[in-house]
Amino acid sequence: KLHNTIQELKGNIRVFCRVRPLLVDETLGTDGVIPHINFPDTKEQKMLEIEKVGDAALNESTVSARRGGNNCQGKFDFSFDRVFAPDSTQAQVFEEISQLVQSVLDGYNVCIFAYGQTGSGKTHTMEGGSDNAAENRGMIPRAVAQIFQTGRELEEKGWKYTFEASFLEIYNETIRDLLGNGKDDQKYDIKMTGSNSNDVMVTNLTLVPVSSENQVHSLLEKASHNRAVAETKCNERSSRSHSVFRLKLTGSNELTGEGCQGTLNLIDLAGSERLKESGSEGQRLKETQAINKSLSNLGNVIMALANKESHIPYRNSKLTYLLQNSLGGNSKTLMFVNISPKEENIQETLCSLRFATKVN
Ligand code: ADP
Ligand code: MG
Repeated sequence: KLHNTIQELKGNIRVFCRVRPLLVDETLGTDGVIPHINFPDTKEQKMLEIEKVGDAALNESTVSARRGGNNCQGKFDFSFDRVFAPDSTQAQVFEEISQLVQSVLDGYNVCIFAYGQTGSGKTHTMEGGSDNAAENRGMIPRAVAQIFQTGRELEEKGWKYTFEASFLEIYNETIRDLLGNGKDDQKYDIKMTGSNSNDVMVTNLTLVPVSSENQVHSLLEKASHNRAVAETKCNERSSRSHSVFRLKLTGSNELTGEGCQGTLNLIDLAGSERLKESGSEGQRLKETQAINKSLSNLGNVIMALANKESHIPYRNSKLTYLLQNSLGGNSKTLMFVNISPKEENIQETLCSLRFATKVN
């Protein structure tokens, strides 16, 4: 079967699906159940079933019309490496990625993406709830905490690590430093460096040495402040940009003389909803095309890697160019596909699931 073949080829790419819960204001008039999403294998938790009945997608009929019609009714089954139902906690989700995070200390480059339409829970998954409650902390703070903790434990065996964090945004194919001083006066270019040109760096980007979780929390706050400032200048900017948090680690063992380098990339992608190109013009149209292009190029890169193609189109977008030494080769990739439980979003949900199945 084709699926098995892809499964064998995919190597270091895994896909997890997470369905967020209905929010308080979304459950009014219902009992909080999600009528059209089922989780048939409660034990394995790898399957998801979408049931499309009646005119659920009526609100989005324009979307499906543009896509050549996906208006058929029926049941759609999807399987992933893991499916998280709405009641999954951040701790449960992190448990499933903690091994992957750990491998950064073994010198792997790791990319963890959140893909999905705006409002599907990407930022909640990556950064966490806005209430700052410990149990709502997302994958970034949890991953960083675990890496620091393990790093301290490995000191006993002679390892010493240093860490460097950066946080940037790619908006309209332009890089912006989320840890900068707020002035937008620098030019950020992606450059290949290192002895084999195998390291990617961004000119002028702020790199912050970090060693504690608290330092990383302040960085996330600074980034969120910088984003809020930019958002007042352009509405919806954060849902239209990719944000890339990067923790780079350098380790050396004073007992054995070994050395190691690893990079963890956590990427909150731009909303995957297909934006209407018709009706927009000028800046807005350019922006729309940039998002559509960079997300589909990410899919193309991942698929080309899975199919072991000789040419990987890293350079077709800033995002994949930036991540090229963390995608493919000896690196590991995980994609969260975040899903909205709202019935009116069913068409976008199906599109996200199809995208994720393709790269899976
Ligand atoms: P996105 O970043 O994809 O646009 P958000 O992460 O902002 O979506 O989530 C949309 C809304 O849903 C936010 O109010 C967020 O707090 C809430 N939310 C998302 N995921 C969860 C979850 N697992 N549990 C509780 N609330 C969630
Ligand atoms: Mg978001």
